[in-house]
Amino acid sequence: MSILLTTLNARYTHASLGLRYLLANMGELQPQTRLQEFVIGAKTTEIVERILAHAPRIVGFGIYIWNVEETAKVVAMLKRVAPQVTVVLGGPEVSHETNEQEIVRLADYVITGWGDVTFPKLCGEILHGPKPLMKVHAGVQPPINEIKLPYSLYTDDDIKNRTLYVEASRGCPFKCEFCLSALDKTAWPFALETFLAEMESLYQRGARLFKFVDRTFNLNIKTSLKIMQFFLDKLEAHPDDPVYAHFELVPDHLPDALKEGISKFPPGALQFEIGIQSFNPAVQTLVSRKQDNQKAADNIRWLTTQSHAHMHVDLIAGLPGETVESFAEGFNKLWALQPHEIQFGILKRLRGTPIIRHTQEFGMVYDPYAPYTILANRDIDFATMQRLVRFARYWDLVANSGRFAHTLPVLLGDAPFQRFMAFSDWLYANTDATHRIALERLVGLVARYLQTLGMDQGAAEALLGSDYSAAKPKPAETPAPKRQARRLAA
Ligand code: SF4
Repeated sequence: MSILLTTLNARYTHASLGLRYLLANMGELQPQTRLQEFVIGAKTTEIVERILAHAPRIVGFGIYIWNVEETAKVVAMLKRVAPQVTVVLGGPEVSHETNEQEIVRLADYVITGWGDVTFPKLCGEILHGPKPLMKVHAGVQPPINEIKLPYSLYTDDDIKNRTLYVEASRGCPFKCEFCLSALDKTAWPFALETFLAEMESLYQRGARLFKFVDRTFNLNIKTSLKIMQFFLDKLEAHPDDPVYAHFELVPDHLPDALKEGISKFPPGALQFEIGIQSFNPAVQTLVSRKQDNQKAADNIRWLTTQSHAHMHVDLIAGLPGETVESFAEGFNKLWALQPHEIQFGILKRLRGTPIIRHTQEFGMVYDPYAPYTILANRDIDFATMQRLVRFARYWDLVANSGRFAHTLPVLLGDAPFQRFMAFSDWLYANTDATHRIALERLVGLVARYLQTLGMDQGAAEALLGSDYSAAKPKPAETPAPKRQARRLAA
């Protein structure tokens, strides 16, 4: 075996679509190429040992914002114990500001952008000469339908135990400046019939959970309808063995035909990830995000009241020009629309994203280490930003977990953001922790907090008891590859 494709996924359940694309497109090198995935948090020595057990001549690493730090250690150790192995890097994290990165210094070659054509070509040159002279290779973007689809490379084990990522298109025509997809300028659809034939084959092999990573599923309504019909046909034919699909939507584009399709899905079959990011028109203009707020709100309301889709809606704190007050206003507006989850993200400065143009004027200070989270800006100081970070963490624990369904409305009252911020500050002051708060302890803490608001002990315990006894697993989860990871977080 001469070529190993590898990456560190954020979780075991995330099967890397990018690596499978590379493997599918290796051409005559495919028989000598293998794929092995790891999960972040694994010991560096173990990863290196397992990589070397394949005795590879070339190792191709997929580098993302969530794995760059750990992968840098892996590459450093690998080059020390096996300097003869050629290391090739690719992926969004090394596609921009390439020469400024430690991991790039450690590697032999880097491919920026699309690797489907350039990676096999580079491997051929490394193996058979002439030796490539340049370290950094700009990935060639072929016509999209020349790319071989990778879905047959999902193993039976992947199908049974992991989230299957699929894409009917690549790219995004919008230009939100905090998002890497802003550089695409357009979207490229795969041939729909070929794509659906692949989905059919996955379905026949037992796949029931499909996570679409298309940046904007509802760009081309005809295509969206055909894809939805594929799933509706399966649901109708086998209601006892339901299929589950996850799509990302732009919120202000939901024509009637699409609504009609969506309304046909039964409960537990459809999940939408919807990026609002900010309801503040001035902030939207600053980051070049075009969004009709009224339409977006109407559509979210329609989805929550007229469809069975499970909805995650994203907001980002820390954008240029967004104050805590204006963010709070947007948060409260969104809460009133009652999506199932509000994903509260903190801005990250992804390498290559145009948001950098605001750094000076808005005093944007980012963590120099991945994931480059904003630490402070002109309108939000460091301490306040940390309060927002804790809010986001506690919001996940209390609100998005779905474990406090009866208690949450009482906790939030008529000022959701302000009241949850007060709760978050209290929780931190009383625990000094944002992680590893066991559920039982959290329930006790919420009960205590409700009493500080004036609720008597018995009433607080009864309220929490109603959540505790009603606690049930959430609908099928489709763990998002961190949204800002390509947009992070559309
Ligand atoms: S945030 Fe979403 S809509 Fe905006 S550029 Fe990124 S993927 Fe496209």
